[in-house]
Amino acid sequence: MNVLVTGASRGIGKAIALKFASLKHNVVVVYNKSDYREIDEFRNYLENKYNITCLVVKCDVSLENEVINLFNEIKIKLGYLDCIVNNAGICKDEEIDSKTADSFMEVIKVNLLGTFLICKYGIKLMNKGSIINISSNNAFGGFIESVDYDASKAGVIALTHDFAKFLAPNIRVNCICPGWINTDMNKDIFSEFKKQEEEKILLKKFGEVEDIADTVYFLATNKYINNAVVKVDGGYEN
Ligand code: NAP
Repeated sequence: MNVLVTGASRGIGKAIALKFASLKHNVVVVYNKSDYREIDEFRNYLENKYNITCLVVKCDVSLENEVINLFNEIKIKLGYLDCIVNNAGICKDEEIDSKTADSFMEVIKVNLLGTFLICKYGIKLMNKGSIINISSNNAFGGFIESVDYDASKAGVIALTHDFAKFLAPNIRVNCICPGWINTDMNKDIFSEFKKQEEEKILLKKFGEVEDIADTVYFLATNKYINNAVVKVDGGYEN
């Protein structure tokens, strides 16, 4: 398979790219602000260790012209895609009162518009296969400081259902809602808060990036799961 993963420079996206590469699939690693040298090292590692092709492309998923350029480059270098994983995302925890229209829209643009743009232009390179969107447990609400993030992730679920209908019966579209996963995104949370949140998880611990990567791979290779929203959260109860 040729698999595109957005936000593959770090955290969950990097683990997803590694999972596919380790199982001999070609990967397109999309990053934005990370240091190119680090991503290039990752590309080298994947290509040499797994004997696959890894294409590295810098693209801000919230900018339409960059997304168009991304797929033009993939068309020339790989030709087609079998799987797209919309994983790039940002979150800004702030009091609702201090959120500005601009910062609210920045989150919507990366998480929701970015997912839409990647789907819109990416499907031109797909005849079959699947799209996997990474939403969040926050899509179901309850985290007041990230109201913009929560709304964007609820939008990603709606967008999943609409694209599943639009692309049927050739391309499956599914969505994963991770719970708390140990990545940079929540490296700064207070330990007391982390303990409180762990108590709400039936498994009593945050997940690891591989838990999400394994689920993405499962959804990409399964043939009959479509239009599904899969929670991977250890059994979180708010
Ligand atoms: P992370 O460690 O903060 O990494 C975020 C990734 O998104 C980076 O690769 C970053 O690339 C990329 N990115 C950010 N803005 C971008 C843009 N405008 N265009 C392209 N790429 C962009 O996050 P993570 O924890 O791995 O999260 C990955 C996904 O899982 C996100 O969608 C997140 O909402 C979701 N999620 C995470 C958790 C969790 O607990 N960690 C829980 C639920 C859902 P650069 O560094 O190159 O800019």
